[in-house]
Amino acid sequence: MPFDCLIDVHSHLGQSSMDTMSADGERLCRLYHQAGVTHAVTFSIEACYGGIDAGNAYTLQEVARHEMLSMMAVAHPNHLAASAAWVRQAASEPKIVGVKIHPALGAYDVISRAMFRLMDEVIAPSGLPVLSHVGNDSPNVPIDRFLQLAARFPQTRFIAAHLGVGVLGLAHAAVDAWSRQPLDNVWFDLGTLRAFATGAVETFLTHIGPDRLCFGTDAPLYVPAPFVRLLEVLPVTEAVRRKIAYENVLQVIPALRGRTGVAGE
Ligand SMILES: [Zn+2]
Repeated sequence: MPFDCLIDVHSHLGQSSMDTMSADGERLCRLYHQAGVTHAVTFSIEACYGGIDAGNAYTLQEVARHEMLSMMAVAHPNHLAASAAWVRQAASEPKIVGVKIHPALGAYDVISRAMFRLMDEVIAPSGLPVLSHVGNDSPNVPIDRFLQLAARFPQTRFIAAHLGVGVLGLAHAAVDAWSRQPLDNVWFDLGTLRAFATGAVETFLTHIGPDRLCFGTDAPLYVPAPFVRLLEVLPVTEAVRRKIAYENVLQVIPALRGRTGVAGE
C-alpha cells in the first residue's frame, strides 16, 4: 500500500562515477514518484569529496526547483571557512535543513581535532542536525568512532547512515556498539544493501528499537523503489512502520514539518 507520507533522509544530487548513479533534481524526483517517496533530503555527491562550494551551490539550485526536495549542506573539516559559510546560510535559506559529513569520501577522521573544531565553531552552534556516512569498511568512521563524536556533542542530533554498518563487515557492529553506548541524540538511516539481508532490519529494531530508524535510500546510488517495498512488507505494526516512514525523522529534523509531501502540512 502506498504511504501518505514517506521521507527519504539520505539521497544525493550531482555526478557520481556512473551516469546511472547520478541525478539532477528532475531525475531524482522521477525516481521518487516511481517509488512512492513523498519528500526527500538530499546532498551533493561532489561536496562529499571536498568540492564544498561547487557541490552545495548546485544542490541548492536543484532543490529550489522541486518542492519535494530539501537539502543538507555538506561540510568538511579541511574547508572550515567554506563550510561555515554554508552552515550560516541555513539561517536564511529554509531549504537547508541539516549538515552532511562524509569522513570516508572526504578522507578525514570523524574524531580528528579538525572535526571537533568544525563541530565546536560551526555545526554545534547552528543547532542543525548532522547526517554522517558510517561503515564498517572505513577506518575513518566505523560506528564506534561515530558514537564517540555524537557523545561529545550531546546537544546536536545525529543520524548514522547505512544502518550504522554499510554493506561489508560485521552485521551486528551497530547493535553491539549501541549496547555499549546508547545515545539519546543518535538515529540511523536504512540506506544500505544490508537492509535487504533477511533479518537485518528486524535485528536492528529488536536491539536498538523502533524510535531510532529513519527511512533512507542513498538514491540514486541505489534505486529507491525496492526500499519502499522493503518497508511495506516489514513484519512490524503500522505504528512502527509510520515511525520509520516519517515520524522519527521529524524528531531529528523538525524543520521538515509542513513541507510538500510531509504529514501535517
Ligand atoms: Zn550516501
